[in-house]
Amino acid sequence: MSEDKFDVIIVGAGLAGCTSACLLAQAGLETLVIERGNFPGAKNMTGGRLYAHSIERIFPNFAEEAPVERCIVHEKISFIDDTKSATLDFASPESDDPANRSYSVLRSRFDQWLAGKAEEAGASIVPGIRVDDLIVRDGKVCGVVAGGEEMEADVVILADGVNSILGEKLGMVSKVTPHHCAVGVKEVIQLSKQQINDRFGCSDKEGAAWLFAGMPSAGYMGGGFIYTNEDSISLGVVFGLHNMAEVGKTVPQMLEDFKNHPTVKPLVEGGKTVEYSGHVVPEGGLSMLPKLVGDGVLIAGDAAGLCLNVGYTVRGMDLAIASGEAAAKAVIAAKEAGDYSEKGLASYKAELDNSFVMKDLNLYKNLPGFLDNPRMFNDYPEMVTGIMSDLFTINGPSVPLRKKVMPHLKKVGFLNLIKDGLKGAKAI
Ligand SMILES: Cc1cc2nc3c(=O)[nH]c(=O)nc-3n(C[C@H](O)[C@H](O)[C@H](O)COP(=O)(O)OP(=O)(O)OC[C@H]3O[C@@H](n4cnc5c(N)ncnc54)[C@H](O)[C@@H]3O)c2cc1C
Repeated sequence: MSEDKFDVIIVGAGLAGCTSACLLAQAGLETLVIERGNFPGAKNMTGGRLYAHSIERIFPNFAEEAPVERCIVHEKISFIDDTKSATLDFASPESDDPANRSYSVLRSRFDQWLAGKAEEAGASIVPGIRVDDLIVRDGKVCGVVAGGEEMEADVVILADGVNSILGEKLGMVSKVTPHHCAVGVKEVIQLSKQQINDRFGCSDKEGAAWLFAGMPSAGYMGGGFIYTNEDSISLGVVFGLHNMAEVGKTVPQMLEDFKNHPTVKPLVEGGKTVEYSGHVVPEGGLSMLPKLVGDGVLIAGDAAGLCLNVGYTVRGMDLAIASGEAAAKAVIAAKEAGDYSEKGLASYKAELDNSFVMKDLNLYKNLPGFLDNPRMFNDYPEMVTGIMSDLFTINGPSVPLRKKVMPHLKKVGFLNLIKDGLKGAKAI
C-alpha cells in the first residue's frame, strides 16, 4: 500500500461493514472503516432478533463471547384488535446446532463487539466522521471525501445503511420510495430479569419474540413487536410508509397506543424507557435491488436493500452479515487478480446469488405485494379475534360451532378468503 492509499475503505460500521472489515483485515488487506456515529452501533437500530446462521459461519460459537441478550426459545404471534387478542404460542428448547439459534441483540452493544473483532484483525475504525462524497475518476471509484480530507483506496464498500446517499450519487441506488420502505419506532424498556422471566415465561438467558398484527399498525401493513433482552425489552411498531397519508395518526402515537393495549400494558408495567429510536426499514425486497457492483465499488447490507419482511418477522441482520462476507471475498479475489474493475469484482454478485441472500429474496419476491392488502392487517386480525371471542363466550343455550364462525368468515367474504389463500400460497 502506498502511504496514503488503503486497499479498502468501508463506509459504515454496521453489521455489513464490520463483517467485511474483519474478513478483509484477516486476509491482510489495509482496511479503513469510517463511521459517522460516535461509536459503532450508536446510530444503528433493529427490532432485535439476530438469526445466527450467517455470523456463526464466520465466528463459530460467537454467542459464547458476543454480547447477545437472550436465546429466543418462545415465539408468539398475536392477532389483535383494539381490545382483544388471539395468540399462537410456540416454544422449543435451545437448538443443539448453534446455527439454528436466534438471539435478541441490542445494537449499541453488539456492533461494538463486532467492530472490536475487526480491529483485532487489523482494521482501522474511525468513528464520528461522515463520508460526504466519493472520489470518482474516469467512472472508477477511487476513494472517499470525509472530514474535509480525501482518502484513496482500490475499492470502496458502501455499507452505509438504508437510503444510501453515496450509492444514489453514483447512480447505482434508486431513491427510496414510500412503497419500498417502512418506518420503525422502538423503545427499549428496562425491567428486572425476574419481571421478564415471569411475564414472558422464560428462565434466565431464554428469550421470547412476540409479533402483533392488526391494531399496532392501525389495520395497515406493519405490526408490533416485543423482544426480550437480558434486563429490558425492545418494543416497537413498524408501519408501511405508503399508507401514512391515510392512517390519520403518527407512528409514535401508534407505539403509544400499542403500549396501552390490554394485552401489552401488563407486560411493560413499571418499566422505564431507556432508549427511543426511529429508523427506515427497506422492505421492497428484490424489487428495490440496486446495481451491486461498479468499478472500484460494492454495495452491501441495507444500502443494497438486502432486507426481508416475511410477514411474521423482519430479517436484515443475517443478510447484512452474509453480504458483508460476500463483499470481502470478492475484494480478496480482486486483489489476487489485480483487477478492481466491475468485472474484477463481479464475483460479489455470484457469491450472493449462490447464498441464501438472493435465494430468499427470490423466494419472497411476491410477498411485499401480497402483504400490502388491507385485509391482512385489518379484516383477518378482526376475524380471528371475533371467532375466538364467540367460541369462548357462553351465555345461555349454545349454538353450533359453524354458526359462531360463519358470520366472521362472511364478513371478510368467502371469495376474498379463497383469493388471499391462493395468493398467499403463491407468495411463500
Ligand atoms: C424497526 C426495525 C426492526 C428490525 N428488526 C429486525 C430484526 O428483528 N431482525 C433482523 O435481522 N433485522 C431487523 N431489522 C433490519 C436490520 O436492522 C437491518 O437490516 C440491519 O441493521 C442492516 O445492517 P447494515 O450494516 O446494512 O446497516 P446499518 O446497521 O444501518 O449500518 C449502516 C452504518 O453506516 C453508517 N453511515 C451511514 N452513512 C454514513 C456516512 N455517510 N458516513 C459514515 N457512516 C455512515 C451508519 O451510521 C451506520 O452505522 C429491523 C430494522 C428496523 C428499522
